[in-house]
Amino acid sequence: MSELKFVRPDTKAPRPGERTQPKYEDQLLDPFRVAPHVWHVAGCKGCGDYLIDTGDGLILIDTPTPEFSKAMFAAIEKAGFDTKDIKWHFISHWHGDHDGCSADIKDASGCKIFMGSEEWQMKVVPPESVKKVIPDMKVRYYEPDVIIDTDEASFTLGNITIHTLKTPGHTPGALTFRFEDTDTDGTVYTCAMHGGLGVAQMDTIEGMKIQGIPPECRDKFIDQCLEMSHWDIDITLPSHLNHCGYLGDNLPSDKTDFKPFADKRVWPVMLLERRGYVMERRGEESNK
Ligand SMILES: [Zn+2]
Repeated sequence: MSELKFVRPDTKAPRPGERTQPKYEDQLLDPFRVAPHVWHVAGCKGCGDYLIDTGDGLILIDTPTPEFSKAMFAAIEKAGFDTKDIKWHFISHWHGDHDGCSADIKDASGCKIFMGSEEWQMKVVPPESVKKVIPDMKVRYYEPDVIIDTDEASFTLGNITIHTLKTPGHTPGALTFRFEDTDTDGTVYTCAMHGGLGVAQMDTIEGMKIQGIPPECRDKFIDQCLEMSHWDIDITLPSHLNHCGYLGDNLPSDKTDFKPFADKRVWPVMLLERRGYVMERRGEESNK
């Protein structure tokens, strides 16, 4: 079995000024398969957007920033799918690098959009302070069809049942997704995507307030990451490819070979690294 080099996840979020913006062409990325019936279709390296073939229509999790709309549509086609077959679209959280093309997808497919209640609240009426710190990504307006207002929920389409869990911290109610995907040989792979692993948002309590994130979400994030690190996840779907250090520029040459992604080590290491980062910031703040 082929195996990718295991690299520790890239925990530290870039600070303003550290962020380098590669050229548009250099950000484009062909689709690649990550699980038996799951493809990465963001069309770009920065985002983690996944198309799931349920056997009875497609489910799309997240969309990239608006400038990658064409690239995402092309990626879906290159992966062998028709955008019109998307029935459900889940949005992990309200930031424009997760719902940037969601209106385009809804227009093209007539899909149902699922979103957490806290995230929709932030989308429609963000606090004034948020508008100053979150860049306007010029995301086209859409409306969700299903607003998820419980901490945990499950939704079944075809062969796939998506379990959602609210995991606040990066935003007030980012969703984490977990589902089982069965290969033709009967092997079952449990897949998961944590939808709110951007940790710089929790650097300071003051910063959290400005971003409309209740301060208690930081402790909750720390506790939840520890609990969730015990989940038995075969395949981690990073919500940004840089959350798993080995991805992006280190993909298998065969874009249909998902086996290298079946690595149980990735999930706990990714969550515990992020948790450690947030605990350090919390410690620094309490020592001030
Ligand atoms: Zn975000």
